[in-house]
Amino acid sequence: MEKTDLVLVGGGIVGLACARAYLELFPTSTVAVLEKEPEVGLHQSGRNSNVLHSGLYYKPGSYKAKLCRKGALAMKEFCQGENLPYLECGKVVVATKASELSRLHDLHERALTNGVNCRLIEKAELKEIEPQATGLKALHVPEAAVVDYKEVCNELARQLQSQGAQIFLGTAVKDIQSEPDSIVFDTEIGPIKAKQGINCAGLYSDKIAAMCGLKPKARVIPFRGEYFALSSKAEGMIRGMIYPTPNPRFPFLGVHFTPTAMGGAECGPNAVPALAREGYRWRDIHLRECAHILSWPGTWALLARYGPTALAEVARSLSKSAFTKALQKLVPAIQKGDLLLHPSGVRAQTVLRNGTLVDDFMWMRSNRMLHVLNAPSPAATASLAIGRFVIQKVCST
Ligand SMILES: Cc1cc2nc3c(=O)[nH]c(=O)nc-3n(C[C@H](O)[C@H](O)[C@H](O)COP(=O)(O)OP(=O)(O)OC[C@H]3O[C@@H](n4cnc5c(N)ncnc54)[C@H](O)[C@@H]3O)c2cc1C
Repeated sequence: MEKTDLVLVGGGIVGLACARAYLELFPTSTVAVLEKEPEVGLHQSGRNSNVLHSGLYYKPGSYKAKLCRKGALAMKEFCQGENLPYLECGKVVVATKASELSRLHDLHERALTNGVNCRLIEKAELKEIEPQATGLKALHVPEAAVVDYKEVCNELARQLQSQGAQIFLGTAVKDIQSEPDSIVFDTEIGPIKAKQGINCAGLYSDKIAAMCGLKPKARVIPFRGEYFALSSKAEGMIRGMIYPTPNPRFPFLGVHFTPTAMGGAECGPNAVPALAREGYRWRDIHLRECAHILSWPGTWALLARYGPTALAEVARSLSKSAFTKALQKLVPAIQKGDLLLHPSGVRAQTVLRNGTLVDDFMWMRSNRMLHVLNAPSPAATASLAIGRFVIQKVCST
């Protein structure tokens, strides 16, 4: 039987960052990453907006606020140090209606509390920064950047392997048993024994927790985020990121424009319920997973609370015209024909029994295991800081 000091379940950016942080502290120890897919970073970590978030949105003092700032600095250093794609394109968050102005001011206050370098700008300055954007006022974040998290995952994996870590691809964890002095992971390639484990399984993190006998108070509900790529004609309409003013009642930021670090630009993501944990299209339906989602009281409470918003999101998903209309609130010149097909992503959003969306990162322990149970955006930005934080937690047991 394979034996190791630490097992990471999940080769997404969080699992890889935890492995890196462990080897930073204990360079002579043995580490194994177990990933069910043939490559690292194929799910959330490789299907997202690639934004290096600056820390505007998060409740001061929360894990998100603390780890996003630290993580963004570490990620910038990592990408620049390793020559990975990094583009400091800046960002504007735009208020397009008078009713959004007070929310924009609140966001500015919050961003300053979180230590973000940003300022409010008037219409005329918005036009200088983003000539095609429309708005009454905006928050300008000059340091905001985009990266390529799939490339980051590939580089982290490469470095881990050169430090002696084993990355088992195509190796799904089927079950987990706790023994008095170890924990055993049953996998397709046989059992792997470890002193400790960390669950970084993203969309399946609650299932891995259940294998360890935990009954988390929350369940992962998958929300798909759909994107379009901008045609080469429309790419020139944006210089940096253009976001709407978010509604703090909703967890997602609203469709926005994002340049990509390697050239080109995208828009999205919306947020629609996925019919499978890895349901990247409406036709990806997994009946057992749907039943699991629908049997959770939180799903129904969520629908009751956000029903009309959810319906509007579904309409935008089914109608490109409706999607375009949402984008035109930010950039009126954008046309339906400028939007080209692009892969979607699915967010692992943890939802409590009463329908509350868990906002902050969330962890739980079981015997010899630490479970990362909610790592939504900005967890890719924050990943290197999350890795260090989680390893400190693991070592303090
Ligand atoms: C649409 C979208 C847009 C986003 N935009 C941004 C953004 O711009 N900036 C940002 O910072 N964050 C963003 N995020 C969030 C970010 O992508 C995630 O927070 C981050 O990738 C989570 O990483 P992870 O490693 O926890 O999960 P994942 O990347 O999902 O990794 C989990 C891994 O576990 C593996 N796994 C699952 N079950 C098993 C098993 N039984 N055995 C073995 N392996 C298993 C999976 O195959 C997967 O590779 C976005 C997310 C989405 C979906």
